[in-house]
Amino acid sequence: MFNILLAFYVILFTVGAQAQNYVPGRVIVKLRGKASSLQASSFASKMNSENNLEKTKSWSSFNLHSFQSKSGESTEQMIEALKNDPDVEYVEPDYLMNKQSLDASIQSYTASEVHGFVAGFGLTTNQVHGVEAWSQVTSNNNPIVAIIDTGIDLNHVALSDAIWTNTHEIANNGLDDDGNGYIDDVNGWNFNDNNNYPQDCDGHGTHVAGIIRGTTQDLFKSPHPDAPIIKIMPLKFLDCYGEGSTSNAISAIYYAVRNGAKVLNNSWGGGSYSRALHEAIIYSYTGKTVFIAASGNASNNNDAAKTYPASYDVPNVISVAATTSSDALAYFSNFGASSVHLAAPGTSILSAYPGDHFTALSGTSMAAPFISGVAALIMNEKPTMNGYQVKSIIAGTVDMKSQLSGKVMTGGRVNHLSALSYAKSATINSYQPEYGISVSSEDRALASALASGGAGCGLINDVTKMGGGNGGTPIGVILIISVLLLIPILMIQKLKNRKPRYQRAYERFEVSSHVSMKVGDSEVVADLSTISLGGVGVNTQTLLEQGSVVTLKIQTPDGNEMEVKGKVVWKNKSKSYGIQFVEANSTVLERIGAWTRMLMSSSN
Ligand code: CA
Repeated sequence: MFNILLAFYVILFTVGAQAQNYVPGRVIVKLRGKASSLQASSFASKMNSENNLEKTKSWSSFNLHSFQSKSGESTEQMIEALKNDPDVEYVEPDYLMNKQSLDASIQSYTASEVHGFVAGFGLTTNQVHGVEAWSQVTSNNNPIVAIIDTGIDLNHVALSDAIWTNTHEIANNGLDDDGNGYIDDVNGWNFNDNNNYPQDCDGHGTHVAGIIRGTTQDLFKSPHPDAPIIKIMPLKFLDCYGEGSTSNAISAIYYAVRNGAKVLNNSWGGGSYSRALHEAIIYSYTGKTVFIAASGNASNNNDAAKTYPASYDVPNVISVAATTSSDALAYFSNFGASSVHLAAPGTSILSAYPGDHFTALSGTSMAAPFISGVAALIMNEKPTMNGYQVKSIIAGTVDMKSQLSGKVMTGGRVNHLSALSYAKSATINSYQPEYGISVSSEDRALASALASGGAGCGLINDVTKMGGGNGGTPIGVILIISVLLLIPILMIQKLKNRKPRYQRAYERFEVSSHVSMKVGDSEVVADLSTISLGGVGVNTQTLLEQGSVVTLKIQTPDGNEMEVKGKVVWKNKSKSYGIQFVEANSTVLERIGAWTRMLMSSSN
């Protein structure tokens, strides 16, 4: 008996150790350069003939595609085969994601049993002053809240009238009337099964939807809630067990932004860092939405070990921890003084459940929708307010709680009344901070050394070669990089943690700055990754011609602007570009030298 048990244990352990957190035999591939259907189709046919890989999905305008192995290659083998392909910007596994609620024995109630239950729900809505916030609602703009989840019970008595309708789509005519890439998507989309029926077969998404609506009006009113204040867009990517792929989550995010959602609720998480998902969230930021994410249920410090998508530091992301009815951090909730923004109720929250039922669930999955709900209330009153300002208001109006000090960034729990009242009197501010993916924050290859000595590298001291300073750019494309390095404080913070990695000719610093470059008539975006006296490291998805001479406009922290000429180099080892400083007059050299010395001293 003992031996049998032991054998069973060993098998379980082995299976556990081999468990993969990604879809087997599938990868997400970003192609280098500008999106082109010709490039994509020739790459796909090359993959098909040379690697026996089938293209399963394309996000064409982002040059992003997913491929499935046709002959049983592992994900690792696929990545190995693709990572050095000159067409490939990056390749990564298609990570699996899971709903962020706890398994619990479910006691369910019927609609008549919960009628008037607002008092019960009010244990939580009173805590966040939700019911009082309802009295502040004076507009009827019906902001769209995308619920990226297990789907929604579309027929639920408390939800059916609030389900978003795509008015540009004619139902059941078999056509993609609005040309958004989805046929007959009248009520959102089911990305998991690739059809137009995002019905919930788990319960999680229905519960989340109920909380969001329940924070905007009385969910338990009989026979059903009042006319909806928000519209709920069901985007199903988690299956009947609450599991789904990153590629489908990405599709759901793009769908939400492109089809008018203002608030994206994301009560899910898992996997590892995904550049493709990171870029999708940046797209939601560019689209001025607010991206609300459950912090996770592993009692984990997200500052120390990141949890995705909550830990993406895109400025419109709100990471939400769960609290108890006494405003203590829930035992399961992830936390993080510098990465989890605030807390919301997340234990035993009563909400809608499929089949016209209601039930109580716990998890950061339940906390996130409290934030989505108040974000929607704000956007109902202020329909032109961007997600970043909404986030700032919600975070700036929390009730401070000593139990949350050091656990979440704001040290507080959301207050719906305070947030909505503040937002109603706030002036619309269209500002959004610039954001680019920082190489130092994620496990991407660092830009390689730019100034390793030798001919042509580093600063050329013979300034007499410069001539007049302009007109001396004979080779290839001329790039004008304008307004570099506008975030010196952020940069210096990063430098404090920096250790020299290699011996170099010049001390090199990691920086994080989003820049736009002019290449001919078109504008391309790039991330500046490093700077030294020898040059800068640049990450861009646009092909730059090696040897091209570019002009960089650099704004230093002292407010001065200077122009430096540089030459484009491609470092194959790190798959990144660099721009070597090749010409500079003595004043420029002096300034850059002084500036980098200042950075050095502040980083020590
Ligand atoms: Ca359509």
